[in-house]
Amino acid sequence: MDTYDLIVIGAGPAGEKGAAQAAYFGKRVAVVEREPYPGGAGTNTGTVPSKTLRETALYFSGLNRHSLYGVDYQLKSELTVKELMYREHEVVRSLRQVISENLGRHRIDVIHGLGSFEDPHTVRVVAAGQPDRVLQAEVILIATGSVPTRPTDAPFEDPRVHDSDEILELERLPRTLAVVGAGVIGCEYTTIFGALGIKVTLIDGRDRLLGFLDAEMADQLRLQMGFLGIDLRLKEGVSRYVPEAGGVRLELQSGDSLVVDQVLVAAGRVANVGKLAIERAGLGVNKRGLIAVNERYQTSVEHIYAAGDVIGFPALASTSMEQARVAMVHAFDLPKYKTQVAPIFPLAVYTIPEIAMAGETEESCRQHRIDYCVGRGFYRTNARGQITGDLSGEVKLIFRYPDKRLLGVHIIGEIAAELIHVGLMALQTECTIDMFVNTVFNYPSLGDAYKYAAYDGLGAVQRRAAESPRLHH
Ligand SMILES: Cc1cc2nc3c(=O)[nH]c(=O)nc-3n(C[C@H](O)[C@H](O)[C@H](O)COP(=O)(O)OP(=O)(O)OC[C@H]3O[C@@H](n4cnc5c(N)ncnc54)[C@H](O)[C@@H]3O)c2cc1C
Repeated sequence: MDTYDLIVIGAGPAGEKGAAQAAYFGKRVAVVEREPYPGGAGTNTGTVPSKTLRETALYFSGLNRHSLYGVDYQLKSELTVKELMYREHEVVRSLRQVISENLGRHRIDVIHGLGSFEDPHTVRVVAAGQPDRVLQAEVILIATGSVPTRPTDAPFEDPRVHDSDEILELERLPRTLAVVGAGVIGCEYTTIFGALGIKVTLIDGRDRLLGFLDAEMADQLRLQMGFLGIDLRLKEGVSRYVPEAGGVRLELQSGDSLVVDQVLVAAGRVANVGKLAIERAGLGVNKRGLIAVNERYQTSVEHIYAAGDVIGFPALASTSMEQARVAMVHAFDLPKYKTQVAPIFPLAVYTIPEIAMAGETEESCRQHRIDYCVGRGFYRTNARGQITGDLSGEVKLIFRYPDKRLLGVHIIGEIAAELIHVGLMALQTECTIDMFVNTVFNYPSLGDAYKYAAYDGLGAVQRRAAESPRLHH
């Protein structure tokens, strides 16, 4: 029996960072990982592969640069799966190495095999061809992540029907593709394949894309999807999948049907607790199949913590890492520099175009009866926007009226996921939009669009102030 201060089950973003946090402060840590390499969905099947494929699609399609040089850039004909996946394999391999080095540098024991609880302090690790190992620890962190949901009516046994893990193992590029489910993952892959010139149909039961986004950004995405030739079918669902010799026929709830070469079912993800035997630790899952935790990521058994996708929303690599760090600071009573996950976190949707947001949307302001104004800065009137050729981008600021306190930031366009951090810092430090007016931004830079969004916002405040007395009479 090996004894540790901490056993972490799962070496995805949460597991890696939680383990490193404790080890950095001198704790003896073991990480149990069932896959031959660390990284989880963050590095191996989710975040990193999909973002790398996006870059590849932009490169081969020339989409973010086409027409800039007076040349009608054509998609490289007959792109192969090998070409499409080349960078993905390279990047994933390098990042696995980076993670292994990080774990090594912190002297963390990485134990390969499937971990499951024997009792609240004991984890058994089972690996094919190896004797079982039994580990004990004072503290345990469950970081087993999530797996794609597989609706029972979708014929995944057909090699043309994929979930979001399998789409990375394509044997040939689809000629036509149906994406079922317009969540973040579905929308991202839709635009990636759409950019590659593949005819994509995106099907979803809801009446708008990505309900958490500011509606203006979601509408803009819808428009841009149209420019990519994507056939978007909202308020629609698949009633039956019929595999045929020439393709997969989708019978739709509206009565329509379509035949596509391949299908990606992006139906969300479920917590990965199946083989953990959490009941032996005195734990269970809630109604949504998730492990419930308190604000310090402690489960109902106080020395067992859980972080990342296994606890549900927001189920992002970014927040998973931070949750695990906060959990470990609490578990080992480490110097109190990180006692909570920042309450405002950024969201990025790596569609083409990219979208990012932080804070309130117009819809949430209305719902909470917050009086607000809006200011917009456009890439098309920004020098860098003109230079790069992204003319449809926009920075939108939502702020409280009349005190101009920033409430939300929404960006669509090139490097939105990077630019959002400027707004995020302003939100976190409770700034007014005057902060942007009074800041010197690089010129030319897309960041400068913040300043013009703020100027536009000041104009909106003036118009409101001029209107208000009249409204009161
Ligand atoms: C297609 C896609 C795109 C995404 N894009 C983004 C994005 O752009 N930005 C973002 O922030 N997030 C993104 N995400 C979400 C992000 O990948 C997850 O939120 C993140 O990986 C969760 O981290 P985790 O450590 O909780 O779990 P995971 O990354 O799922 O890691 C869990 C690990 O635990 C291991 N494991 C499970 N059970 C056991 C067991 N019993 N014993 C041993 N090991 C076990 C697994 O093998 C895995 O390595 C994306 C996800 C997908 C699928």
